[in-house]
Parts: sequence; C-alpha cells; structure tokens
Amino acid sequence: MEHVTVPPLSRLAICGGTHGNEMSGVYMVREMQKHKDARAGSVAITTVMSNPRAVDACRRYIDKDLNRCFTDALLSSPITDSTPYELLRAKELNDQLGPKGGAGAVDLLCDIHNTTANMGLCLIFYSLDWVTLHIYKYIQSKMTTPVRAIQLDIPLSEAYSLESVGKYGFAIEVGPQPGGVVRADIFNMVKEAVDLTIEWLQRFNSGETFDGGEVEAFSPVQTVDYPRDPTTNEITAAVHPQLQDNDFKLLQPGDPTFLSFSGETMRHEGAALYPFFVNECAYYEKKIAYQLAKKITLTFPSISVKKD
Ligand SMILES: [Zn+2]
Repeated sequence: MEHVTVPPLSRLAICGGTHGNEMSGVYMVREMQKHKDARAGSVAITTVMSNPRAVDACRRYIDKDLNRCFTDALLSSPITDSTPYELLRAKELNDQLGPKGGAGAVDLLCDIHNTTANMGLCLIFYSLDWVTLHIYKYIQSKMTTPVRAIQLDIPLSEAYSLESVGKYGFAIEVGPQPGGVVRADIFNMVKEAVDLTIEWLQRFNSGETFDGGEVEAFSPVQTVDYPRDPTTNEITAAVHPQLQDNDFKLLQPGDPTFLSFSGETMRHEGAALYPFFVNECAYYEKKIAYQLAKKITLTFPSISVKKD
C-alpha cells in the first residue's frame, strides 16, 4: 500500500458522560477538567461532558439515547417544542466539536463508554480510518490487557454516534462495569488508552513515520434478542451461563445461548461467529441480548504528517 500523509492532528476532544451512568468517562473528564486549557505538546485537548443532565441524574439518557442522535438527518432536523433534550444537546455538540464532515471539526474525537459486558477494552469506529487504525495498533502494542476493535460498516451520513463528528474518531468501550459504578481496574484501562492516544498524536505531529501493517477487527453481522413470550413480550430466558462473560469467544453451532426460566437450554444455530455486548444492561430496551460478529483483517498503509 502506498504511504499516506495527513495534516497535523492538533485538536483532540475527549468526551465522557455521553451515557450519563457510564462512570469511567464521567470521572476521566472531571479529572482532566481540573487542568484547564489542557495542552500536551503539539496537541490541544478539549474535554467535554456530553450529557450533563443525564450525568446529574446518573441515567443513560433523559429523553432519548444521545449516542444515536448524530446522523446527518437528525442533526439537520428542525427544532420544535417537542425536540428531545438529547437532540438539542447533539446539535450543540456538533456546533462545538464539528460540524460533522466539515473543515472546522476537531481532528480526533475520542468518546469514552462503559459496558456491563465482559468485553475488556475495545475501540469502535466507522469505515476505514487510517489514523484510528494506527492508534489502535499502537494502544494494542503497549497495553498488557487485550485490546480489540469493532468496525461498523455504516456510511458517515448515517453514522449515529458522537465520535463521527470529528475528522477522525473512535469510541473507547470498556467493561465489565455496572451502570453508576466506577472500578479502578476499568478506569486505569481507559486512562492508559487515552494517554497512549495523546502520545501517538504527539509522535505523529513531530514527524515520525508509522509503519503500515495488519490488524484484526470484528465486523458486526447480526443482533440476537432474548426469547420472549409472544403475548406479553416479557423475556422468558436469561443468557446461558456458558455464554455469559464469554464475549469474543467463538460461538459454534450447538453452543448454549439461553437458559429459560423453566430450565430449557437454547442453542446457537447457523455459522460460527463471535458474540459481544453479551447481556449488556442498556440493550434490554433495544431488544438485544448479544451481537454477533465475524473476524476480519484490516490492512493499512504507513503514515506520517503532511508538511507544508
Ligand atoms: Zn455508552
């Protein structure tokens, strides 16, 4: 692959509290905001508490999931008396950190999330983004705990989450951590990933060339709902103990997936795939018990800063 050059990446946004009860990002942003006008060498850092009302209430959101509000259609929709709080907030964030797809957007947007699933540290990003792939490879090479990537194959106009507002961006998703809880081990993983991201940006801006290569990523294929009673819509089974906490462990045809409350085991049908977001608390309302992904290999070119 041909070498790629990119203009300096000097404006970084670190966001937390996009979901108001995901405490790693809330405390990370609060900690960074103690040091006003943060600058790390060549990188100017903006810290943002994305959904302050939900953070105050320690809830995922007030009216609507903020992290589903950043599609082009929603960002350009007219404001009325009934516009949900989170959509108003999404427009404010787009003004502050974007505009999405525009020249004035921050160079890199990093949005911090937690999951109740046992997913460890994952970077989630859209399409093929050489900057994010290089940062992913860098973080993975430096951290002692597993670091994985989930690539969402969605066009930018339909990309719904906050990180799509930056020129480059990714979500840091770390778990397991219950809503409203802050765990030191999880917090430290987030902090290490943020510090390594800043370190990579500084080295990149100083003129270092980073070699191309290959990384593994997970590409979502389908979502699976809980078994439900057809009349009441209540769930009739929980995630099976053999699937619980086994995110990213290959699920083979015939492997147990659910255990019904009457004691019946349900099993995986179809191709062998990798489960993730297994029993994520916030996804009960989205009717998702777990998601399934295939493993892909992403090849990326060497990269360095574009000089005038
Ligand atoms: Zn979240």
